Amino acid sequence: MRHLLLVLGDQLDREASGFDGFDPKQDVVWMAEVAEESVHVWSSKQRITLFLSAMRHFRKKLTEERIPLHYTTLEDANNTGSLASELDRAIAHLKPEKLVMTAPGDWRVLQSLKQIAVKHGLDLEIREDHHFFSTVREFADHAKGRKQLRLEYWVRELRVRHNVLMDGKSPLGGQWNFDQDNRESFGKEGPQDIPPPKRFTPDSITKEVIELVNRRFKTHPGQVSATAEGFGWPVTREQALEVFKDFLDNRLATFGQYQDAMWTGQPWLYHAHIASSLNLKLLSAREVVFATEQVFRAQRTERIPLAAVEGFIRQILGWREYVRGIYWLQMPDYVERNALGASEPLPEFFWTADIDMICLREALSQTLEHGYAHHIQRLMVTGLYCLLFGVTPREVHEWYLSVYVDAVEWVEVPNTIGMSQAADGGLMASKPYAASGQYIRRMSNYCQNCRFDPSKSVGENACPMTTLYWDFLDRHEASLAKNPRMVMQVRNLRRLTPEQRQKIQEAANDHRMKVKAKMTQRRHS
Ligand code: SF4
Repeated sequence: MRHLLLVLGDQLDREASGFDGFDPKQDVVWMAEVAEESVHVWSSKQRITLFLSAMRHFRKKLTEERIPLHYTTLEDANNTGSLASELDRAIAHLKPEKLVMTAPGDWRVLQSLKQIAVKHGLDLEIREDHHFFSTVREFADHAKGRKQLRLEYWVRELRVRHNVLMDGKSPLGGQWNFDQDNRESFGKEGPQDIPPPKRFTPDSITKEVIELVNRRFKTHPGQVSATAEGFGWPVTREQALEVFKDFLDNRLATFGQYQDAMWTGQPWLYHAHIASSLNLKLLSAREVVFATEQVFRAQRTERIPLAAVEGFIRQILGWREYVRGIYWLQMPDYVERNALGASEPLPEFFWTADIDMICLREALSQTLEHGYAHHIQRLMVTGLYCLLFGVTPREVHEWYLSVYVDAVEWVEVPNTIGMSQAADGGLMASKPYAASGQYIRRMSNYCQNCRFDPSKSVGENACPMTTLYWDFLDRHEASLAKNPRMVMQVRNLRRLTPEQRQKIQEAANDHRMKVKAKMTQRRHS
């Protein structure tokens, strides 16, 4: 054998650079399902099902194309459970001259594969991942000499370089950023005419995986069953394209306006639901960005506002490329950053949604049911609570990586460590995303049905988000006061009397103790 082409569970792209020059007469594709990838963090059933089913559908596609394939299933009696040792076994058996792969997204995986290559004295050729607009090196050049990194500058650079939403040398519409137009709430009447989400009834391959997951990973978080409601994620490129088309046809026009809004019992709203397909490489970032711009330019009417298109493209061309660059620039230490010295454990209810705070219950229950919550639910409900509670960032990171179907480490770590938990000391975001329950009241109807009052920080009905918010400002006053973007919040804190501050501290400590007491109780029972 000439080349053994390594294809990982999040590299399910037949057009990937790894396949360049692939010769079926002398090369073989290697894929392996390993338990390690489901247990190194306690992965949810939705997430495990998505990865395994998508891998098995990709195997089917390669087999139909008569691509030589060495594929180890989870049920294989000789499966060692580890990616590195499975590769070790395959090399011993197949004896390739060389290993080839598209650059992996995960630092830990790259290190373990390199070690195996060294052990066998084989070259491991790592090819650029053309899924992305930029390379890791380009981002490193962009970051060189900058004390702080900001998405805004990076996304402008990429838009010019790739001629996206440009009008000659100027941004289309005369401005780079339309965020101000994209932050509306639904108002009293709530969301109207939400298009039904594009979900898929599990086929025989997915059904088999669901049965396997429910048997082998039955204690893992969340649930999965063989219906479109029980597991409806796209597992093939064709399905992913259908979801994306549904977004362009039915959701894009409303996406921007309500991208930050939340509503009880409405997990899907007007979001695209393509993050898992992008991160598994069923869809290419390039095709998504270019098709979105094309649809906008072709239908340039009031139907699709530029603000919606810019907001969506910013997520793909801007944010994904930005977090990937930061991940590779900062790993492996990034995952251990803890600039605010947070040391609390992750509350038990993150795994059960058993909590009387409606905002958290909504975000957590839909997360456990579908492996999905939209970006504001992640940043400004679950992430916000962890930040204010003071949960160790590493524990928060492991939770996000476990539960979301789209969670792969290169995306998840910067989003959690850098943005949501402000644990990187301001490298990635210019201020901590700290807010009180009032923000949640403004952006959702959660507070209407909650027993707490978001305007109260102390007393019987005090909202824990609000209590913890003031306590957070109080605990970090000295460092936050140095941040120009936190001036207003610190000024408001300083308007409180010492007695008010004292009461807030007591209420926050009381809340923490109650949450931790429940954890201890559960452990003992
Ligand atoms: Fe969440 Fe507080 Fe609103 Fe209740 S009142 S939903 S706890 S923000």
